[in-house]
Amino acid sequence: MTESHAASSQTRWLFPKKITMQTSPNKVPTMSTKTSKGVSQLNTKKRETSPYYQVIETLSRRLIPTHPSYSLIQRTLAKMDAGNWGEDSVAHLFTYFYPTFPFNILHDVFLKSTTYVQIDHILITPFKLFVIESKNLKGQLIVTRHPDQLVQVLEDGKRIAYDSPLAQSERNAELLNRWLTVQGYNIPVEHFVVFTNPTAEINTMQSEPSIVRTKFLTNEILKRITGKKLLTFTELDVLANKLRSSHISYQKNNILEKYQIRPEHIVKGVQCSNCHRIRMEWKTCKWQCNCGYKSKDSHLQAFEDYRLLFGETITNKLCREFLAIEDRYIAKRLLQLGGYQKSGTKRHTKYSLTSEKNIIQLQKEGIR
Ligand SMILES: [Zn+2]
Repeated sequence: MTESHAASSQTRWLFPKKITMQTSPNKVPTMSTKTSKGVSQLNTKKRETSPYYQVIETLSRRLIPTHPSYSLIQRTLAKMDAGNWGEDSVAHLFTYFYPTFPFNILHDVFLKSTTYVQIDHILITPFKLFVIESKNLKGQLIVTRHPDQLVQVLEDGKRIAYDSPLAQSERNAELLNRWLTVQGYNIPVEHFVVFTNPTAEINTMQSEPSIVRTKFLTNEILKRITGKKLLTFTELDVLANKLRSSHISYQKNNILEKYQIRPEHIVKGVQCSNCHRIRMEWKTCKWQCNCGYKSKDSHLQAFEDYRLLFGETITNKLCREFLAIEDRYIAKRLLQLGGYQKSGTKRHTKYSLTSEKNIIQLQKEGIR
């Protein structure tokens, strides 16, 4: 493992999804020069194993379909699965950006302003800040105002409507602006939407200077660098650090709160890895599904789902509720078989779901 990779891994661990900082080569080398080298490594694939991804993936399987956030969760997961390449290509662009002024760039920032805001990239320059949202969509992309939407027309003529990324980036710039005001900064925030798929055909009803293709982004940024310097060298660093430390970790509570999900909105039971229905029954010492699939270990994934959504400790009662079983002795046996560390006695017995044994078992089965 190289030094740069090690630094990246550490950054990733502190900010679970991916948040990195790059610095212009004009700056005095800091830890950021290490991370900048590792950006493309950092951003590849790793997001899929971030806690945020894991919680969203779990919710995509376990949230009741009637919940108001159900389709949003499915779209978020699809976006995360498809969006990697797009966002990474923007991050990569800044490793070859050599302006005459210092800059910092932060990727995938999650802040609490007047509401939660997730921003793909924030570029900090001494003159202004830029919010950059990236979209990796193919086909014909029609961006309209009033209504604010994006319509994707695929080769087969199929049309898919999305929220307008332009309206989203405007809103994110506004929310970042409010966050900056609260922090005592008076510095303009501008925004860009970057369409990263080179094959996409972009149509707008009117001239939209904030919509650009990846390769023109840095040029467009330079065109907007006007006015006087509002941040010194040091102030730029201080602001970047403030943004980094304000980045909210993707803790499950934040996500459940953000999507207004309560425990009763989660489908309980053991999921069949063959037909994916959550209704396996424990019969004759194994899990059995109506589809014919049988397994001795399907509860391990359920325990992992529980851990991601509700926390690392579970009691016999909570275990029965979550696995949808009635027999407390079966629950006890499954928890003991899982090798989970036990604490307390009798009614106060709790099990810790972080056991190595469970993780190794899941890895062996290729579930994680
Ligand atoms: Zn099944």
